[in-house]
Amino acid sequence: MYKKIMLLVLLFPVLISYGQRNDVEGMKYLDDHRRPLFRENILIPDVNGYKVLKSDFHTHTVFSDGRVWPAIRNQEVWEEGLDAYAITDHIEYTPFSKDVRVNHNRGYELVKKDAEKQNLILVKGSEITRQTPPGHFNALFIDDASGFIADRATNEYDREAMMKAAEQNAFIFWNHPGWKPNIEGSYEWLDFIEDLYVSKALHGIEVVNGFGIHLKALDWCIDKGLTVMGSSDIHNLVAHDYDLNQRHVRRTMTLVMATDRTPEALREALDAGRTVAWASKYLLGKEEHVRSLFEASVILAPSHYTEVKANGQATHFYQISNNSDLYFELELKDGKGTRRIVLNPRSSQQISAPEETTSLTYEVVTTYIRSDRHLSVVFTL
Ligand SMILES: [Zn+2]
Ligand SMILES: [Zn+2]
Repeated sequence: MYKKIMLLVLLFPVLISYGQRNDVEGMKYLDDHRRPLFRENILIPDVNGYKVLKSDFHTHTVFSDGRVWPAIRNQEVWEEGLDAYAITDHIEYTPFSKDVRVNHNRGYELVKKDAEKQNLILVKGSEITRQTPPGHFNALFIDDASGFIADRATNEYDREAMMKAAEQNAFIFWNHPGWKPNIEGSYEWLDFIEDLYVSKALHGIEVVNGFGIHLKALDWCIDKGLTVMGSSDIHNLVAHDYDLNQRHVRRTMTLVMATDRTPEALREALDAGRTVAWASKYLLGKEEHVRSLFEASVILAPSHYTEVKANGQATHFYQISNNSDLYFELELKDGKGTRRIVLNPRSSQQISAPEETTSLTYEVVTTYIRSDRHLSVVFTL
């Protein structure tokens, strides 16, 4: 009887999923080779009461030089467990224009409904693509992407395009500074950038673009109060560029600490600069935000065991847990105890310290709070 019930229970979902199909005599379906669809749950605890929104605000489609149709972007974002994204096709670079009609708003329009259905926050954006220097800028939360096409005949061409975006109350960030290192001025705080900055037409910088970290840009963000951004700048399928078959491999993204999972809260958090760039094993951002993420994720429990050697020397053992999908690697800087701790996503480690140790200071070497500084953490024992 039990077996029969189990068989029914097991068959039930199969019957439902196949029930819709018009089975035809003489036809067989090979569903065992289908990839099951599901959405990943990226685990990051709330930070100081803020929700951590996993976001990618730099992606491309065939409406500029990307390889995929916009709907694929939405599908990927849903499957990978992100909360928010933007399609940011180049305004001034449309290599497929002979095949795809140029329409700078179309990518967004095509996925708007899909995003709503899938409960994703879709932000309207575009990439303003100037010569390098000054390079490329992403404008988010725009009304009309065709509105920044500036008159190429004027000397103020670059500035005009940026100001038009700013007039739409866009959140604007400088993309991949330093991506063309051989061009003079491509990785410098140019007068043009300073002008945007003082004119309040520059709000963030991409500290990580895809697989490249721009450490100098992190210092600029910190020194000038700009928002730290990390994005994939994906042109192909995400699964083509990232080894998503490996556990815990994710695209480069921005972690946004927002009061709520809404477009308004997202915008407020970006304006307030509550972000950390997450790429590979690394977290980059302002010290307070990287620290908050660390403290929300990593917990050191009170000692659960004490070993006493024959000479009377006692050693305490502790469990340290990482309750997130982030990765942390710690190196001991001060105190006597475990020298190196590797905290893989959702895992724990055992550490130990002699009885007389009252605190351990570690550097979290997989974080950057400046180009030359990691986060330092102290565990009081
Ligand atoms: Zn670019
Ligand atoms: Zn791009």
